[in-house]
Amino acid sequence: MSQYIRIWKGIEHLIKGSKDDRFTCTKCTKEFNQKHFQIASAYVDKITQVVFKRLKRYCKDCENPMRAVRHALEKNPNTPPKTDYCEHCGRKNCKIVLHHDHVTGEFVRWACVNCNSRFIHDTLEQYIKDGEKWYNDK
Ligand SMILES: [Zn+2]
Ligand SMILES: [Zn+2]
Repeated sequence: MSQYIRIWKGIEHLIKGSKDDRFTCTKCTKEFNQKHFQIASAYVDKITQVVFKRLKRYCKDCENPMRAVRHALEKNPNTPPKTDYCEHCGRKNCKIVLHHDHVTGEFVRWACVNCNSRFIHDTLEQYIKDGEKWYNDK
């Protein structure tokens, strides 16, 4: 299995695949080189125990407008005050970010960066729909 190193914020990140890999953004459905996808969460290879990084499923272009929405929500007086723990997994002492509904633009909950990148959908309906797609499409 090939792998390569991406330098991001001065740190080396190990990614499986090759520098020429191309992916389709799950939001705009356009295809880009891996460079166009930011680094997401880490995971441990079960066999080698080596830590690899996943890439985000949204391309940079789609990711940035969402960040703008997130910042606006953080300042919105109707948004509940930021918690010091993740409202998904309950973990403390981690970076907490605002998890918002990518369709409606509404606040969902405060989540750690791991949960926020792991929960790719915002509602149960979207998860069910996605699950149906995986199990029904043969
Ligand atoms: Zn995109
Ligand atoms: Zn969490």
